[in-house]
Amino acid sequence: TAVDTGGPTIFDKIIAKEIPSDIVYEDDKVLAFRDINPQAPVHILIIPKLRDGLTQLSKAEARHGEILGQLLYASKIVAEKEGIAEGFRVVINNGPDACQSVYHLHLHVIGGRQLKWPPG
Ligand code: 5GP
Repeated sequence: TAVDTGGPTIFDKIIAKEIPSDIVYEDDKVLAFRDINPQAPVHILIIPKLRDGLTQLSKAEARHGEILGQLLYASKIVAEKEGIAEGFRVVINNGPDACQSVYHLHLHVIGGRQLKWPPG
């Protein structure tokens, strides 16, 4: 099981464009790209370009308020761009019990099919 080491992650290479990704939205603060292992017809990850200690949501501090808002707002932009604004889910997996595997905060934007609740 992956744990938070605070070290670099694969997302650093995606931000640096050292490894390719299918980018669907980008601005100066956030990057959104398709998940390599999609769990639905639309499955996009939204990350802060600057991790700034946000390896996981539970590391958030008051100073992160602005970027947290920007990430959530970007999820709406992405959902609209993908044509799923009528129904989509935003997920943050935090820590091993939630199956977090990459320790660079990311929002999953999932949709394009009927989703089940609870997710399990
Ligand atoms: P977590 O389990 O940490 O919430 O989600 C990490 C996500 O990153 C997974 O859904 C996984 O498929 C995705 N992922 C891991 N490595 C890569 C990669 O190199 N490229 C892309 N596009 N997605 C990745």
